Amino acid sequence: MRSVTGRKNISEMCADLLQDESNLSGAWCEAAAWPENTDEAEEYIRECSRSGIPLTVSGGLTGIAGGALPEGGSVISASALKDIRLLGNGNITAGAGVTIEELNSFVSANMDGFYPPDPTEETATVGGTIATDASGADTFLYGSTRKWVEGLQIILPGGRLFTIKRGQYKFENRTCTHPLLGTLQLPLLRREQPPKNAAGYHIREGMDLIDLFIGSEGTLGFISEAELKLAPEPQYVIDLAVFPENTGSFWELYGSLLNTEEHLRIRALEMMDDRCMDFLRSHPGEFPLPPANAVFCLLLRAEADNDEHLEEILVTLDEMLIASNSNPETAWGGFEPSERKRIKDFRHALPEAVNHCISEVRRKYPSIHKFGSDGAVGPSRLEEYYNRTRSILEDRGLPFVIFGHAGDGHIHANAMPEDPRQMLLADSAMREIAAAAVEMGGTVSAEHGLGKLKLDYLKLMYSEDEIRGMEAIRSIIDPDHLFG
Ligand SMILES: Cc1cc2nc3c(=O)[nH]c(=O)nc-3n(C[C@H](O)[C@H](O)[C@H](O)COP(=O)(O)OP(=O)(O)OC[C@H]3O[C@@H](n4cnc5c(N)ncnc54)[C@H](O)[C@@H]3O)c2cc1C
Repeated sequence: MRSVTGRKNISEMCADLLQDESNLSGAWCEAAAWPENTDEAEEYIRECSRSGIPLTVSGGLTGIAGGALPEGGSVISASALKDIRLLGNGNITAGAGVTIEELNSFVSANMDGFYPPDPTEETATVGGTIATDASGADTFLYGSTRKWVEGLQIILPGGRLFTIKRGQYKFENRTCTHPLLGTLQLPLLRREQPPKNAAGYHIREGMDLIDLFIGSEGTLGFISEAELKLAPEPQYVIDLAVFPENTGSFWELYGSLLNTEEHLRIRALEMMDDRCMDFLRSHPGEFPLPPANAVFCLLLRAEADNDEHLEEILVTLDEMLIASNSNPETAWGGFEPSERKRIKDFRHALPEAVNHCISEVRRKYPSIHKFGSDGAVGPSRLEEYYNRTRSILEDRGLPFVIFGHAGDGHIHANAMPEDPRQMLLADSAMREIAAAAVEMGGTVSAEHGLGKLKLDYLKLMYSEDEIRGMEAIRSIIDPDHLFG
């Protein structure tokens, strides 16, 4: 097993461990290890626990909330756990360090189905996506990572090996007793957690014990391996980009797609607002530009089982576009690889242009970074939440764009500060946007988790008693609070 000790050695020899996509600075640690199998991971965790050394778990380091960045202690990286195996039941067992890209290649080479979780960054790992319960565009139809995890192997604090399958242990009356863990009690929440939620531990009456560990952001142990299930591949996948020429048409189309009773198997329903359209036009690159009159963009992915179903979907969508005054002639898309690629490139162009813009500003102010919101509300309140988010950012005079997973009521506002004064304004805007989502019955984080960057937001969403209840669960599993 590779391991490095000494703060200076780590910052010189493995500085990549001290940086993820959150832009948080100041991470450091005294030691790091890359176990290559479960035995090595168990031994390392046992040793750290014996010596009282705090442990931060690291995966693909694509996280946006800084959960994988250490503040002292030791880092245990899952990146060398690369085993993938087919199981007799059609599922797959994957080591925690297998990336989503590696998993997808393995699946397409060996199996018929596909693995739906797709958090955009394909260097994210199986362990990291489970620890954050990652979502992606197709979550609208396929749910988040949780739905595809059938079993976990976890090394608990103290180095105890814990394996669990879905269906083995459930909470009843908010209580679950497990021979290794003891008795765990879920806190009583004032209101149910929103359906798409990555803030705090997963808490639902009657839930499976495995779900407590999914989305626990490296605070309840080291996920070393997972059993994952696949979805059947549909015959056709259609990608469409629709460009309404006014805001009213966009919201009308959005509403009718949400409420349709037709057999449109919509996988993804995403949006980019007028600020995104203007931003792309003013930062042209190697991607297709939106049509001249486009005000908003609605990105839609649907799937069909056969030619008849495909025809039915295309006709229905055409009618819906016309009914909402969106011109079908300016829409892009189809099921051919070239059309789907055009839309993929267009979708990826926005975060790339935002990052490029931030790096330009950084030449003058090196500490500048992007601020991103991750709140979600019930889809029926998305328009209200969008308008509120927008006015919070406009009131502060910040440059920003808003886009996201509209079908799940989930949007990301990206504020791009241009100087240190705007950094402070962006920080307060993000907090206000998060609080607005909670006020509307939603969550402060729907997919990125809270990590270290947004841990404080937990208090916007949960009462002191609720947070104490989550802490109590953690104290039973990790009495010395060494993880996370
Ligand atoms: C451009 C871009 C787009 C993104 N889009 C999406 C998106 O659409 N949806 C989405 O959900 N996310 C998205 N993300 C965020 C990120 O990709 C996900 O959070 C991803 O799940 C993190 O996986 P990782 O392996 O990189 O984990 P890391 O960043 O290494 O770690 C993330 C958290 O998981 C914990 N962890 C990691 N591995 C383990 C393990 N083996 N055991 C226990 N805990 C562990 C860490 O301690 C940390 O708290 C995006 C990120 C970028 C940069």
